[in-house]
Amino acid sequence: MIDKDFEIIVIGSGLAGLASALTAVERGCREVLVVEAEGVLGGSTRLCGGVVMGSRSRLQTAAGIEDAEDDMFKEYMAINVWDVSAGPVERWAARSGETIDWLQDNGVPFYERLIYSGDDRRPRGHCVEGGGQAIVDALVARCREVGVEFALGNRVDELIYTDGRVTGVRSGGEDLTAEAVIVATGGFGANPEYLAQHYPIAWVPGETFYIGSQGARGDHLKFSTQVDAQLTGENRGLRMLNPGVDTMHEAFLPGWTVLLDKRGHRFCDETAPYGILDSLLKARDNVGYVVFDDAALRPPADLADRYADAYKQVWPNHAKFKPKHYTADVIEQYKDHERIHIAESLDALAESIGIPADDLCGTIARYNHLVETGEDTDFGKAGRFLNPISTAPFYAVEVRPTAIAHTGYGMRIDDHARVIGVDGNLIEGLYAAGECTGGIVGPTYSGSGSSLASAAGIGRMAGEAAADYMKAARA
Ligand SMILES: Cc1cc2nc3c(=O)[nH]c(=O)nc-3n(C[C@H](O)[C@H](O)[C@H](O)COP(=O)(O)OP(=O)(O)OC[C@H]3O[C@@H](n4cnc5c(N)ncnc54)[C@H](O)[C@@H]3O)c2cc1C
Repeated sequence: MIDKDFEIIVIGSGLAGLASALTAVERGCREVLVVEAEGVLGGSTRLCGGVVMGSRSRLQTAAGIEDAEDDMFKEYMAINVWDVSAGPVERWAARSGETIDWLQDNGVPFYERLIYSGDDRRPRGHCVEGGGQAIVDALVARCREVGVEFALGNRVDELIYTDGRVTGVRSGGEDLTAEAVIVATGGFGANPEYLAQHYPIAWVPGETFYIGSQGARGDHLKFSTQVDAQLTGENRGLRMLNPGVDTMHEAFLPGWTVLLDKRGHRFCDETAPYGILDSLLKARDNVGYVVFDDAALRPPADLADRYADAYKQVWPNHAKFKPKHYTADVIEQYKDHERIHIAESLDALAESIGIPADDLCGTIARYNHLVETGEDTDFGKAGRFLNPISTAPFYAVEVRPTAIAHTGYGMRIDDHARVIGVDGNLIEGLYAAGECTGGIVGPTYSGSGSSLASAAGIGRMAGEAAADYMKAARA
């Protein structure tokens, strides 16, 4: 006799949860419940930019972009120096194009034009019209159509775990049982205690802030302790550069800036993707100085066009990127802040920051020389972003990677999203997908769209595997 409340319970209603619930129904389940702690569906997914990475989707093919079978996997492994769980990553990457098609078939509206997600060799970023909210709206509508139930405002406190098997969830003192449970609770960016413990390189008390949803409290870490699940991915995630004056989040640097390390040396193309800037700062004591001059803040009329086009990133689903902190008004507002340095000469600027003047002035002199030649032969920044740093006053903004967009410490899974125990065995009846998994994000966040791609792709893998397990259990 079947005496379970549901066939499958999914904890969390972000992309990972919605994709797994819908897939479980497609795979033959009839009684699927999504339990959501917050009063609103969608988690961080609903707040996100809506770029989804994928290789060999119908849209990519239609755009005439050729992508080889395992190039995405190989590039992902290379950028992460193989320090991820290659099994699940390979299966997820291989199906990433098919997952974009699946999202599209389920009503997610994509633009035809793809973008470069990060440091990839060919465009793989699929942009959703309407951003993350449009993904949530489409999948929730589809889930409701096929009979998935939702329980809003119910935070799961613990898993029901008996005789080595997960058979349900406990929320507010109530037990709900199921053949299988999928954990899709997102990350822990909204939990300062967990940030300090598990993402210490991102944690600066009084400065670090999270840009996602308040539901990201890291409950998967509690569940893991309860069932002895393996955890992996300490100190992984995505951090964006932050001047520390407010909690306004800024994804990219304007192309007319120069980014210096503590020695006053330049070290990259300043228009690099945010995941790359995060890693570069990690290798430089997590401190950088964004240097520019007054012409950038108040360009003369004849040069206005040169400064207006300041971003490499042009996304069809996003308004033209514009500086947020690096504007005359914001600099004026925070001019007395200890992280904002303003000086009439480069020597004085160096002194204000505490960098030897020879180093800073030498770096800027070389940069200005490259500007004159029109070619950044040192770091390869595109010529159209090269503007001299020569009009006083000069500015240096101290930035640290303390704006958190993603956390990567979580449950270790196999290539079917089954959770692995500390004893090396699979935990029966337990699956995980999305930001609550570990070992998917490596030392470098590979680019815009990789989180949503893994939430959707691994969410589908979890839905399939949990449905198969449920059917076998009831056979
Ligand atoms: C501003 C911003 C922009 C971003 N842009 C992009 C982008 O363009 N492309 C990209 O790939 N990534 C992007 N990301 C990252 C990406 O949005 C997330 O990694 C992804 O949405 C996570 O999906 P998820 O389903 O794992 O978690 P979430 O979407 O966070 O969903 C988890 C859900 O679980 C719920 N929950 C948690 N604990 C419990 C519990 N105990 N009981 C019940 N429910 C619970 C939460 O309330 C939440 O609703 C962005 C992130 C942010 C913050």
